[in-house]
Amino acid sequence: MVLDIRTVPAGHSAVVQTTGLEAYTADLPPFSEKISCQAAIDRSGQVLYVHLQFKGTFTLECSRCLTQYAYPMSGALRLVVKEQPHRFGPATDDESVDFFYDGRHLEVDLGPAIYEEIMTSLPLKPLCSEDCKGIALESGTAEKNGNDPRWEALKKFRKR
Ligand SMILES: [Zn+2]
Repeated sequence: MVLDIRTVPAGHSAVVQTTGLEAYTADLPPFSEKISCQAAIDRSGQVLYVHLQFKGTFTLECSRCLTQYAYPMSGALRLVVKEQPHRFGPATDDESVDFFYDGRHLEVDLGPAIYEEIMTSLPLKPLCSEDCKGIALESGTAEKNGNDPRWEALKKFRKR
């Protein structure tokens, strides 16, 4: 999501946007619909306090049965965006600020923060369901029927 500093009034305001996180699609699991973002902003002069909420649905592969399944995710971030001459983008060296902008760069892309939050929230060992039995037994039967075992497993998941 991109904040256009020029359009953010003093005091409280809200911005709603969707983002395809285009810069990061190669590193993220696939998602068919854009990530929706909602930002509540409190602006005081050249400092913006942003409470950002996002949600999206990723396609993950179960680490046990290899079924692809939908993984809805939401998250919230608190970010500080601040003007600083000749600084622009993520603030890596300042604990109290997350993003800088300056007079020549008034569009701040919060994508890097959203990306980071998504990456840390994704399960390390994705499971289509907590009691997934894995692929061994199911694939045996499915192969006899000539069906792709992954689709069989997906059907089961959808019925739940
Ligand atoms: Zn599974």
